[in-house]
Amino acid sequence: MTASGLLTSGCSASNLIGLAVARNTMAGFDLRKEGMQNAPRKMTVYCSDEAHSSIQKAVELLGFGNDALRRISVDKAMQIDLAALESAIKKDREGGFHPVCIVGGAGTTNTAAVDDLNALADISAKERCWFHVDGACGAWAAIAPEYRHLVAGMERADSLAFDLHKWMYLQYPIGCILIRDADHHRQAFSLTPTYLAHGEGNWGLTGVDVPWLADYGFELSRGFHALKAWMTIKEQGTAKYGRLIQQNIDQARYLEGLVETAPELQLALPVSLNIVNFRYIRPGLNDDRLDHLNKQIELELQEEGIAVPSTVTLWGRKYLHVAISNHRSRKEDFDLLIREVIRVGKAQA
Ligand SMILES: *Cc1c(COP(=O)(O)O)cnc(C)c1O
Repeated sequence: MTASGLLTSGCSASNLIGLAVARNTMAGFDLRKEGMQNAPRKMTVYCSDEAHSSIQKAVELLGFGNDALRRISVDKAMQIDLAALESAIKKDREGGFHPVCIVGGAGTTNTAAVDDLNALADISAKERCWFHVDGACGAWAAIAPEYRHLVAGMERADSLAFDLHKWMYLQYPIGCILIRDADHHRQAFSLTPTYLAHGEGNWGLTGVDVPWLADYGFELSRGFHALKAWMTIKEQGTAKYGRLIQQNIDQARYLEGLVETAPELQLALPVSLNIVNFRYIRPGLNDDRLDHLNKQIELELQEEGIAVPSTVTLWGRKYLHVAISNHRSRKEDFDLLIREVIRVGKAQA
């Protein structure tokens, strides 16, 4: 079996392509010809509560309907609850639905949580579901020499979506989708009208049919995404990128340590990859006031030009969100960040 891949304008497009191949392959009828209207059973897709909105958009665009996207609860590490997933699939089968795809996360947007990908691969195999992994940011842990194990199981995906403009330090826009079986990939997208007829080449390639990228996605005319990826990887080498990815993970752990030793700060959850979530706390303030205070800290840090954290909502509460994906970040930057968060927090009325 040969794998195939396509560079895209980002992980949203990659997820859409991956789920399109999943849907068409698993439908059990000629979906391209007959369409979703003729599905004998309603198809369902599974992801965690923490999955990215592009999964929902893909599910909507592909005609499943948002109701068919089963959002499974997460545990306190923000990983998909495997028992809840299995019972949702069981319940759907009993209810006459057709479970077709399980989406795992390798680095969620809020917390960089990585689902138990080996367990999801096992469940997908057992339930005869397609296994798609959204590794927008986190997939790159796979090239960090000491942290590959953090995304173990990802290599078992039927399709893997990820970005190069989030954690591979490349300029926007560039994402990628990999499909384990190139035949499935082509069967979902290949279409050759007469005005695009190929395989008739006269460029010294007579008899050789070069792959056409339009056969692997929904775009015909497209940007030359590959150039910057190829050039930078060729110039810098993957080993160097691996070291930088590793450095960012080490920095996240360093920042986690700083948060843990500051009595004014509270870590949201243990760091998994390159995202650190925490909040400033002040005894006597209730959760609503703390939400407001941390939002103020975020704005103040940005407006003073100190740092660019964002905020995320976890368990209904606001936390400062630091996603470390810059190859130029230094340890001192995180020392400064912590000092400034505390200074700004103390100054807020
Ligand atoms: C950012 C992100 C996406 C969407 O990627 P784009 O490149 O912005 O289209 C999908 N999934 C996850 C987990 C993300 O973090």
